Amino acid sequence: MALDEYARKRRFENTPEPPPSAKKSKRSAMPYFCVQRHDATRLHYDFRLEIDGVLKSWAVPKGPTLDPTVKHMAAFVEDHPVEYGSFEGNIPAGNYGAGSVMLWDRGTWELLGDVPADAQMARGDLKFRLHGEKLKGDFAIVLMKGRGKGNEWLLIKKRDEFAAEGWDVEAHANSVLSGRTQQEIASNLPARKTKRKTAGAADRVWESDRPAKRAAKAAATSTAAAAPAKKKRSSTSAR
Ligand code: MN
Repeated sequence: MALDEYARKRRFENTPEPPPSAKKSKRSAMPYFCVQRHDATRLHYDFRLEIDGVLKSWAVPKGPTLDPTVKHMAAFVEDHPVEYGSFEGNIPAGNYGAGSVMLWDRGTWELLGDVPADAQMARGDLKFRLHGEKLKGDFAIVLMKGRGKGNEWLLIKKRDEFAAEGWDVEAHANSVLSGRTQQEIASNLPARKTKRKTAGAADRVWESDRPAKRAAKAAATSTAAAAPAKKKRSSTSAR
């Protein structure tokens, strides 16, 4: 099965990342894509396209770009479950991929050309259009044949109205989910905005940010309204 490698690399009792679910994800009209900024051993961006019920995934050290004059290496990695596409949080030390994960971009994508996605993947040349919050327009991802371990692709922006020469991925380093920086995610700081429900251990440090004595006192005297909200957060973070 496609998600075996994903499951084999992780112990889900020790990481907030989602286990593969038995049920097929519900299909929307257009497939999902996302990019996660992952501060692991080396900072990289994980570029993921929903194809055939899983997220086909590439690790892109320099990140995706809207600059059509550069080609960025993208290492093909194991398929991820579609649920992974909304994950943001911290993979604890000692686990595979330990470090903070930012949901850097998300949206839908559409296939270009009249050849099915799996056939384009098999030929090593996939053409697609992204409808993200940051990434928009036409792209290609192309396998560098006869190179390295056979998992090295190039992510390329096509020239169109969204192309922008000199575009700098690091100038856009905030979460589309929570608005947070990588450091704020790593420190479990609260979301800057709450457009949607935050995933992972987002909001806990709202309390623990304070000196311990004050936090304890505040907890003891906190209103009934504050308590359920805290409960809800910690149950989400335990996922
Ligand atoms: Mn990664």
